[in-house]
This record gives sequence, C-alpha cells and structure tokens, in this order.
Amino acid sequence: MLTIGTHMSIAGGIAQAAKNVVDMEANTMQIFSRNPRGSGYRIYEKEEIGKFQEIRRERQFGPLLAHAPYTLNLASSTEKTYEFACMVIREDVARMDALGIENIVFHPGSHTGIGAKAGIANIIAGLDQAITGQENLMILLETMSGKGTEIGRSFEELREIRDGVRHPEKIGICLDTCHVFAAGYDIVEDLDGVLREFDRILGISLLRAVHLNDSMMPFGSRKDRHAVFGGGEIGAEALLRVMEHPLLSHIPFYLETPLDDQGHKEEIHRIKEELAKRGKL
Ligand code: FE
Ligand code: FE
Ligand code: ZN
Repeated sequence: MLTIGTHMSIAGGIAQAAKNVVDMEANTMQIFSRNPRGSGYRIYEKEEIGKFQEIRRERQFGPLLAHAPYTLNLASSTEKTYEFACMVIREDVARMDALGIENIVFHPGSHTGIGAKAGIANIIAGLDQAITGQENLMILLETMSGKGTEIGRSFEELREIRDGVRHPEKIGICLDTCHVFAAGYDIVEDLDGVLREFDRILGISLLRAVHLNDSMMPFGSRKDRHAVFGGGEIGAEALLRVMEHPLLSHIPFYLETPLDDQGHKEEIHRIKEELAKRGKL
C-alpha cells in the first residue's frame, strides 16, 4: 500500500494536523518536533494526544515522521551551538518517542571549518548522549545536498556516523530525492545504480523514509531548493519511478514541496492518478 503525506503545520495542534492529513487524503505526515527556527515547543494535553492517536489509528496512518529543527547543528565546534543541539536532540528523541512517532529525522550538520572528521565525531557524541537504546522510535540521518560544509552528502559519511554510535540499531536513513540529486547521485538516469550504491554502503534495510521533492537546482549543484513534484530538474517521470521501485514502494513518502495544504492535496491527488494510470496503484 502507498504511504504518502506531506510536511504538516502543527500550529493548530497535533490532533488538528492529523485531521488535516485526512482532509488531504493522505495517510501519513511529517511534523516539526518543535519550533523549527526557535527552540520552544508546546506540551500537548492528554485529551489532544488521545484525539491524535485515535485519528491515526482509525485512519490507519503509516509511520509518522518528526523533523528536528533546522537550527540544530550537532557537528558544530562552537560550544553554545553544540550544547543547544545536544539538548534539543535529547529532548526531542524522548518527546517524539513518548508520542509514539515512529521516526525522527535530522540534518547531520555542518562542520563550519573543523573538517568532516571532527564534525562527525561531534555528531556521534551528540547522538550518544541522546539515545538510550530503549526507544521505540528510530533516529534517521537525512541525505544532504552538500552545500557549504554540510555533512551527509555521501552515503559513506552517513555510514561513518552510524558505525560510530553506541546504538547503531537505532539509526536509519531518510533519503531526500532533491538532496541526493543535487549531491550528485543520478536518480534520473541511474536509479538502480544509486540504490545499489546505497545498499553496498549502508544497506537498503536502513532506509525508513523518502522525502519526495523535485529540485530547482541542477544535478550535482550541491544546492538545496525544493520544487513541486514534476516541476524541477528531476521531473515527474523519474520521481514516479522512485515511487514504483520494488525496493522503495513500501517506504513512506513525504512531500516537502513549496505548496500550502490545498496545493499538497492536489499534488497527492495527481501523483495517485499517475500511479494508477501506470497500473501501480
Ligand atoms: Fe530535512
Ligand atoms: Fe528533506
Ligand atoms: Zn532540502
């Protein structure tokens, strides 16, 4: 079964977000684990959590995905930045696990000059102070476009992070189609080759989520600008092939395209129509 949703606002609360998923004819969502640019978060009342759980159960949502704030940089060597990142990832792993969210994804970070090796060491230490190993949720590293000093452009870097932590069994991968394309993995001309490489370096079983975005920027540009499905350099055909691929079709897909809820509803509708036309739905 196809599991698809978009990034949803939790401004109206988490139960409202789940309702909006239903209205959108989606069956999963991504939410921010807290205010993406600040540091605050709301504590949900019992009643609201109950309502949220009821909707996702009744509507048989697929795995839900929380996204940690963009401001978080676990690779940083600046003490204040690093300590903030450690606190946020520790709190949000626990908070999202308590809510029964299946996965939390974060951007590994930017080393800002200290080098990838030192940056990765910081990330590993940051994860070790956050993950107890008792969680039900998985912590996903996102594949990045590699802009600036970003870590996570290559599958090898992600593997190094996973290999370094005390609880590698808790670490999975979220593949962002826009990011890998911009990073130089050719999912348009050679999807099979990219997946073979992913499997060789990381193991395909680590893949838990796909961020389904088109890219405004060309192949290998190392620039991260999302386009709507079929409205960018990757194109609809290649994205549909990603969705139909036997190694990927069971993975939940999350759109992070620049549209509002109504636009996302239409986008999902169009995607399902395309898949149906191809006999894949
Ligand atoms: Fe992301
Ligand atoms: Fe993403
Ligand atoms: Zn992005």
